[in-house]
Amino acid sequence: MKFVERDSVSAVVLKGMRFGYDSVKSLAMKQKTFLIFLFLSYSLNAQDCSTIDKEVVSRIKSDIKILASDLMEGREPGTAGEIKARDFIVERMQDIGLQPRGVEGYIQAFPFSEEDSQKAHNIIGFLDNGAQQTVVITAHYDHLGYGSYPVNHISSNEIHNGADDNASGTAALLELAYYLKSNPIKEKNNFLFIAFSAEEKGLKGSKYFVLNPSLNLSAVNYVLNMDMIGRMETGMPLTIEGLGSSLIWESSLKAIECDAFPLTLKKRENGPSDHAAFYYAGIPALHFWTGKHDDYHKPSDDVEKINFEAESQIISFIESFILLMDTKGRIDFYLREK
Ligand SMILES: [Zn+2]
Repeated sequence: MKFVERDSVSAVVLKGMRFGYDSVKSLAMKQKTFLIFLFLSYSLNAQDCSTIDKEVVSRIKSDIKILASDLMEGREPGTAGEIKARDFIVERMQDIGLQPRGVEGYIQAFPFSEEDSQKAHNIIGFLDNGAQQTVVITAHYDHLGYGSYPVNHISSNEIHNGADDNASGTAALLELAYYLKSNPIKEKNNFLFIAFSAEEKGLKGSKYFVLNPSLNLSAVNYVLNMDMIGRMETGMPLTIEGLGSSLIWESSLKAIECDAFPLTLKKRENGPSDHAAFYYAGIPALHFWTGKHDDYHKPSDDVEKINFEAESQIISFIESFILLMDTKGRIDFYLREK
């Protein structure tokens, strides 16, 4: 194990990225073959996040219902459904009072396949607290459209509404933006909120952002990603991955008092969602999710199955965690010995 200076890691990894993200990724995968992943479960005693705030439940319910409605046609990149979802999220960020931080307003358009001239759209809003460093909060809003991909997916030509994957994370991102913008605290971090597209097509939106960032990546303190946080069942844990990316994570997460659910904490830094791109750029990143289920990537991933109350408790947990991390200054990136 070794400590590595943040900036030197970023320089090395980003230099690698010029040769292509996938080559960096495969190199890292090779290096990881003998890694032992530690799976740690903790039950925390507490009260805080157990209280259910009906207003939070109402806002996330409304957002998930809209994003997972048939009107959005499964939010496939490059389709009218994606544009409708994009415009809805832009309007929500505007209403919340975030500053636009894309290329055209809130929007960062990018090609999502080399042979395809079609564009997908990341949506980026900024909360400026006048701080030197910025916390990046992410969730992808795209999904599978009518289910013609991924390749091994059995297409049924039905709308895949993706209520859990990932209208749930998108609604949480908007709720966190609302909370951080409207609370009376001026945090010591700025916050950048990014709703990524083309995640389901290979984490394309986050890879594109990291190679074409709309703020200096060296100013990013850490990243929190949410992907599928709507299907918690009673007694089931909130899973948090990426603890291997900083030595500060474990003790900080365990310090949050919350008896609504147990935590499953995993070191894995490069799990299959948008936080991985930031990890490869030398930035500490965590990923929150409530686990896979029978409706995963099926037309039946619908709004009726979302546990809104539990999701509101997860959001409350993340809010407490952000406030705790705000007392810790710039946190260290950790590169586990390969
Ligand atoms: Zn997802």
